[in-house]
Amino acid sequence: MKGVTVLGSTGSIGVSTLDVLARHAEQFRVVALTANQDVERMAAQCREHRPAFAVMVDPNAAAQLREQLADMPQRPEILSGVAGLEQVAALPETDYVMAAIVGAAGLRPTLAAAHAGKRVLLANKESLVVAGALLMQAVAASGAELLPIDSEHNAIFQCLPPNFATGLEAVGVERILLTASGGPLREWPLDQLANVTPEQACAHPTWAMGRKISVDSATMMNKGLEVIEACWLFGTDTDHIQVVIHPQSVIHSLVQYQDGSVLAQLGNPDMRTPIAHALAWPKRFASGVAPLDLFSVGRLDFQEPDLARFPCLALAFQAAQTGGTAPAILNAANEIAVAAFLERQIDLPGIAAVVSGTLDALPYETVEGQDVDFLLDVDRRARAQAEQLVRNRGVLA
Ligand code: NAD
Ligand code: MG
Repeated sequence: MKGVTVLGSTGSIGVSTLDVLARHAEQFRVVALTANQDVERMAAQCREHRPAFAVMVDPNAAAQLREQLADMPQRPEILSGVAGLEQVAALPETDYVMAAIVGAAGLRPTLAAAHAGKRVLLANKESLVVAGALLMQAVAASGAELLPIDSEHNAIFQCLPPNFATGLEAVGVERILLTASGGPLREWPLDQLANVTPEQACAHPTWAMGRKISVDSATMMNKGLEVIEACWLFGTDTDHIQVVIHPQSVIHSLVQYQDGSVLAQLGNPDMRTPIAHALAWPKRFASGVAPLDLFSVGRLDFQEPDLARFPCLALAFQAAQTGGTAPAILNAANEIAVAAFLERQIDLPGIAAVVSGTLDALPYETVEGQDVDFLLDVDRRARAQAEQLVRNRGVLA
């Protein structure tokens, strides 16, 4: 039996993870679940999965959960705060940690899991964007296993040989082809982008996801964050990554080798496939995902991304090339801008404007020899700057 902690269990990835775990209950024990505020869903998950620990980051939510579960026999120990998240990410009875908190808020608990030598199933791409060097160092030092859950990175992982960590060139790789659906705005008239509502931005054509990543997909900032994520996971740089728009989301990414071979991983767009892959690895087991029917897919299309339509993608490439604190600043500004867009304070083009303005306003620093507190301080400063820029743009009429 492997013990599993699910960080962000009430979210889209968290729910899919619990679905896969329940299909293999003879192999996994749910040790801990965590959420930010959603007490109702957490209470239901506790009754169904019977974890030993439940964390609500918000202390008031933790108190409410205690009340709601008062009648439960063998109820979980209920913790709160970031310290609670770090604690359940590093428990001795936990073998695998699903890192599925959204945003830089996932950094500390993901690092705690890495330091504790767990198998880290990484959905929280923002933690690699903010602190890639630290996270990769923590994994190497403790002997933790880092398995990508992001569908593209999971696909690339599946298309690489097991010894890829010796260097992509050494194993014959020419470049990574990172696929993107292009999101719901791929064909919107350019002059109408300022009128896009949060509902329209979140209506993803092929994937059902949390609201933040859905907006990131609409702006293609998601693909930009994924480029940075791929650089860290696979030890490469932006010159060896090409973004390919593939609207059907059936090919989840490809690896091109020096001999001309191109390997791809295909499947229906359902996150339970990469989740099951990482839980079972190096074996395989069922995920609950329907088999791919190529006849109903019919055709596969490919396009080059248009950087004028998707300025966030260009900003992310630049931040990746600048390095140092630039990706952390990019991520923090994006989190603020996306939240402001979802609250109808700025329009969709305002997201790129706030991110670009924040990157311009803050000096880039090296991250060499720096710790997580330094990076979280950069994150705080970038958020304050981005909030100022949101206020300057003014509330939408
Ligand atoms: P979501 O919004 O559906 O869920 C987020 C989870 O994080 C919830 O459980 C929430 O309670 C928790 N959370 C939110 N703020 C928190 C905070 N400040 N502190 C602690 N916990 C907090 O998000 P999601 O779509 O499941 O995405 C989770 C992560 O997985 C993101 O990093 C996203 O980029 C990545 N990801 C998601 C998908 C997908 O299909 N949803 C695909 C690839 C990668
Ligand atoms: Mg992805």
